[in-house]
Amino acid sequence: MTEMFVPKPVMKLIDTLENSGYEAYLVGGCVRDHILGAVPTDFDVTTSATPCEVKRIFSGFNVIPTGEKHGTVTVIIDGESLEVTTFRVETGYSDGRHPDKVEFASRLEDDLSRRDITVNAIAYSPLRGFIDPYNGIGDIERQIIRAVGETEKRFEEDSLRILRALRFSSVLAFEIEAETEAALYKLKDGLSRISAERIFTELKKLLCGKNAGMIIKKHPRIIGAVIPEILPMIDFDQRNRYHRYDLLEHTARVVDGVPPLPHLRLAALLHDVEKPACFTLDEIGGHYYGHEKKSGETAKAVLERLKADRYTRDRVTELVYNHGLVLQNDERFIKRCLNRFGKDTFRDIILLSLSDNSALSELCCDRPGKIREISELTEKIIAAAPCLTLKDLRINGDDLIALGLSPGKEIGSVLAELLREVIDGKTENDKETLKRAAADVIRTMTQRSQLS
Ligand code: ATP
Ligand code: MG
Repeated sequence: MTEMFVPKPVMKLIDTLENSGYEAYLVGGCVRDHILGAVPTDFDVTTSATPCEVKRIFSGFNVIPTGEKHGTVTVIIDGESLEVTTFRVETGYSDGRHPDKVEFASRLEDDLSRRDITVNAIAYSPLRGFIDPYNGIGDIERQIIRAVGETEKRFEEDSLRILRALRFSSVLAFEIEAETEAALYKLKDGLSRISAERIFTELKKLLCGKNAGMIIKKHPRIIGAVIPEILPMIDFDQRNRYHRYDLLEHTARVVDGVPPLPHLRLAALLHDVEKPACFTLDEIGGHYYGHEKKSGETAKAVLERLKADRYTRDRVTELVYNHGLVLQNDERFIKRCLNRFGKDTFRDIILLSLSDNSALSELCCDRPGKIREISELTEKIIAAAPCLTLKDLRINGDDLIALGLSPGKEIGSVLAELLREVIDGKTENDKETLKRAAADVIRTMTQRSQLS
């Protein structure tokens, strides 16, 4: 195995600990990523020195006691924040979530034995090379996810590891080894003991992995242990000639087909989640009237339960709710959508629609091309910086008051009507033109109110 590149500040941290008579190693994600041929970004260091000793050794540096009780302190070296964690062993786990006791250990091997999967349990020392008691390097070469030590015990101790195994299988595109897989299924119900925040963090990473679709197809019952709402999608035959795949496979493909951003992947996972509940059958085939709205409501409830941040919850809900919007290659339609959704959400609606329409039957094979054209036209429209909101309109409430309109809610209605006319290309966004158009709008509104 090739030597690892270690950035200067990290090297200084390790050297200083070693020169003070302690052992220090890189461990976890950075070692795994190096062996995989990727360039690590986060360098986690583990050491035989206790937090107190680390503080003493680095007394001339800024040291922050980030998680001192659990052995972690942050040392700032040359402007870089570096985490150092003391070797530790964890015992007890009577709640299936947290260790009852965390003890500092003097041997690296003890620290590696508490880690979740073999590819995450490799250490590296610039002096002593790779330390790999669980053959994590071999598992990286064979592309395998395998529990460290006694398989079932590891997942009983901390049920989150079940989801982590799936997450790494998705992100690294590694197969889950048979014994590990059997333990995941046997113990999956333990996930109910894990906090929503920890689950949601892993779930987002899982969904953004390059093999997310495969995991959804292969292990829906494990994902279903945290989102049972997806379970009715398993083997659900859509009975509709526009659909070549069953609902779960369609969903898995839609997930893979959107960019790996949590809100897009979650929207893809949940976009059709209520189709089984909305299913009706007639001589033409299966229908799913109202499934977009119902799936949007379910998506919102799922994300609230998982304590998703507000941004993600609102974006996902809006995307699922509107995923059935029939996109038109028409400037007026696109401008109306940009006004209604804002450019970021409308771009996301297009991305979801493109992926959704790419996972249908041959009858729909022309749809992706059409949606790409709509996407191109949308970008052209956005680049031309058109008037899309009241802010962009070259007339405001004061101008209308100067025209004789009295302050009040009518001003809002007149401005909204003028914006509609500008978006639809009926009126130029130019002050004098808008003043004339405003006079017409006011006249029409007055006539209307006199008639009623
Ligand atoms: P990422 O690139 O996502 O940060 P990572 O491997 O660094 O990947 P983290 O979640 O940051 O993953 O965890 C750091 C290391 O701590 C892991 O590599 C693993 O050795 C260990 N670890 C983290 N969570 C657990 C857990 N629940 N049980 C056992 N070991 C864990
Ligand atoms: Mg990490």
